[in-house]
Amino acid sequence: MGSATTVEMKQRLAIIGNGMAGARFCAELVARGGADRFDITIFGEEPGGAYNRILLSDVLNGSREAGAIETHSLDWFARNNITLRAGEKITFIDRDEKTLTSDRGRISHYDSLVLATGSRALVPPMDGLHSSDGERKKGIFVLRTLADCDRVANYARKATRAVVVGGGLLGLEAARGLMQHGAQVGVVHRSGCLMSAQLDQSSGDMLRHQMEMMGINVHLNKATTAILGDECAQGLAFRDGTELRADMVVLACGIVPNIELARDAGFEVNKGIEVDDALRVQGDENTFAIGECAEHQGQVYGLVAPAWEQARVLALRLSGHSPDALYTGSKTSTKLKVMGVELASIGTPREAEGDEVVTYAEPSKGRYKKLIIRDNRLKGAILLGDVRKAAVLQQAFDRSTPLPDERATLFFDIGRATNDIADFPDDATVCNCNGVSAGTLRATIQEGAASVETLMAQTKAGTGCGTCKSSLKALLAAKG
Ligand SMILES: Cc1cc2nc3c(=O)[nH]c(=O)nc-3n(C[C@H](O)[C@H](O)[C@H](O)COP(=O)(O)OP(=O)(O)OC[C@H]3O[C@@H](n4cnc5c(N)ncnc54)[C@H](O)[C@@H]3O)c2cc1C
Repeated sequence: MGSATTVEMKQRLAIIGNGMAGARFCAELVARGGADRFDITIFGEEPGGAYNRILLSDVLNGSREAGAIETHSLDWFARNNITLRAGEKITFIDRDEKTLTSDRGRISHYDSLVLATGSRALVPPMDGLHSSDGERKKGIFVLRTLADCDRVANYARKATRAVVVGGGLLGLEAARGLMQHGAQVGVVHRSGCLMSAQLDQSSGDMLRHQMEMMGINVHLNKATTAILGDECAQGLAFRDGTELRADMVVLACGIVPNIELARDAGFEVNKGIEVDDALRVQGDENTFAIGECAEHQGQVYGLVAPAWEQARVLALRLSGHSPDALYTGSKTSTKLKVMGVELASIGTPREAEGDEVVTYAEPSKGRYKKLIIRDNRLKGAILLGDVRKAAVLQQAFDRSTPLPDERATLFFDIGRATNDIADFPDDATVCNCNGVSAGTLRATIQEGAASVETLMAQTKAGTGCGTCKSSLKALLAAKG
């Protein structure tokens, strides 16, 4: 059969969104021969190739160049016969005609469609967001894209006082990054505890202390009602009547899934675009959604691990490799990475009546550890200042294994550490972002991988948030 005939038989597959889910889906699909089945086109509103959004804070704090976080270059797409329309936003989906219209006026036909539009930063309603021309006031920023990162860094160089609204993970990372640019930095948070979703009051207080020791002013119990200044941001006003002066404001108040395109096309949307276990958008045989824009069983995830798992399942299905593969949901955990602070939060850090709570605190060293145990199983854990046991606790949580009687061994290596990473069973997950097990890593080491970099390249472990790299090192050392 001639190649022209083969081309005619190919289906047209369009992907909207060249973010962490869309690009990973492309990679998973072509790795399974998907380019022989489909003519693949991916549209990305952002210019350039795909990058690891998680590492944006490293770009902001100057520890990495923008190019160093690229995951799939323009050349990678070309080499894999994928048409990347970078810097082109899809503005309309015509379901009847099966066409996409872009902001460049281009109309493209598709047979199958994958929505991977992700989220944007939430800009909460408050007074003073806009200047007299209706545009967002100068000096107000969010941090979601490389372009945001550039804008924030450029403005910060000229600012004397910067304030971040939101004391969650992203807010603290942004504050830490801003410090590198010379401004005096503050964080305002509406509750009385930093990272209140992941920490309890004691660890939140300790984290606050650590932030302040780094030179970041922390303002708790401050509900922001307005941004001050006429044309440029000049500070914040709070519900309690107080004000804070600042010449730049970074809003880190959460995310909103990009669902408008799907909703306008008539797809079922709720918080996200509703999908079934096949990741199929309800009522449309050939349209799928993955990543932060997708809602599965009422759950919209704001982490990369579920997005990558969904990308893999959809690639298995569409490549024909495993057409019945299903996505059944993800068990998430939060490994947190604020430069200079070691922090891990597993499961739910809130105890219920009757739970056994084990804590260890060493405030002078900024160390705090807490386990919440129910029926001898780990329900939640907080590790601040020393996260060496994070992988062990994560695996006890994931697998719901009975805990050792000597609870202290879950905090410290006492005698021979029997719950060391080297003792992990083969099916225990080591890299949560990519779902890579200890067994896969051991097998790769057996086959000759001798460095963390090789393990990362061959298994993808460590290529997400990167917090498991110490476990990869430990597995390599255990082999030696
Ligand atoms: C600073 C920061 C730190 C983070 N840290 C962590 C962490 O430690 N751990 C973790 O698990 N997660 C973290 N995350 C979240 C993680 O980045 C997301 O979960 C992940 O990026 C989701 O992938 P996605 O593809 O669904 O969305 P995105 O990566 O946002 O990609 C969506 C893409 O679609 C494009 N798009 C949208 N609409 C259109 C359209 N109409 N036409 C064309 N293109 C369109 C967007 O421009 C974007 O490029 C962090 C995020 C940020 C911003």
